[in-house]
Amino acid sequence: MPTSRGAGRYAPSPSGELHVGNLRTAVLAWLFARTSEREFLIRVDDLDRVRPGAAERQLDDLAAIGIDWDGPVVYQSERLPNYAAAVTELTAAGRTYECFCTRREIQQAATAPHGPMGAYPGTCRQLSEAERAAKRAEGRVGAIRLRADVTEYEITDLLHGRYRGAVDDLVLRRGDGVPAYNLTVVVDDAAQGVDQVVRGDDLLPSTPRQAYLAQLLGLTVPVYAHVPLVLNEEGKRLAKRDGAVSLSDQRALGHTPEDVVAAIAESLGYSARTTAELREVFDRARIPRKPWILEPIGLFRQEGCP
Ligand code: GLU
Repeated sequence: MPTSRGAGRYAPSPSGELHVGNLRTAVLAWLFARTSEREFLIRVDDLDRVRPGAAERQLDDLAAIGIDWDGPVVYQSERLPNYAAAVTELTAAGRTYECFCTRREIQQAATAPHGPMGAYPGTCRQLSEAERAAKRAEGRVGAIRLRADVTEYEITDLLHGRYRGAVDDLVLRRGDGVPAYNLTVVVDDAAQGVDQVVRGDDLLPSTPRQAYLAQLLGLTVPVYAHVPLVLNEEGKRLAKRDGAVSLSDQRALGHTPEDVVAAIAESLGYSARTTAELREVFDRARIPRKPWILEPIGLFRQEGCP
């Protein structure tokens, strides 16, 4: 239930174990919310790429590093009627169309002139009802796309300032019937009273689409803070193959959750061993603007190493 205090949130996808980069983003989202007297919510984005047992392990890991949350965890798989209602609302307003393009067709089609790079070129936008019926008769199942009337939208981010990015006719419901992430995130954040979204800066380019969609649905656009990711030495996004990157890997090496919190705190420029200590000293204006590059040696130097 939304409260007047507002809320921040962390919304993991249960596709595997959280790595230290995910944990650091979760800590930052928690710190932003808790130091601004907001509630902190957890939502499990479990509509896609779900690995059995992963959600439970992720929640255990978050609790182990001292992240607490308000109210029950929300699962997107239990909220399908809400996403369907949003699609119905947009459709009733003439804001959607059925798209029969395959991924390959979209890649092959040239991007519309003046359209944003990589944006959907709008191939199915102008199909007549007879053409749509013919596609359906071929056995093609349509996705539902938004009929966007802008190609760009501007958002404000606490770390990145004013950010203008592409908006295209984004997918709202995939051909397999699964509601698309850009829709679900907007519907859920608003329904949960989330007015502060802190997440990895890999999601910054999607944010103008989401803010535009929120505004079309008459929903309040949250305050955003897109925080730097943790990268490996090659500058690539951290992954399981980068070594002992999860809490269970670290436990197997004899390190405690407090050790991991200490490493995260250090990467943020603080000396603290618990999230409670970190909360006391956290200053959002001092967040490092550069990614945290994790050396192959891992989170901790071995005894005796320089
Ligand atoms: N579930 C998404 C992810 O793990 C994050 C969604 C969000 O924070 O908006 O990438």
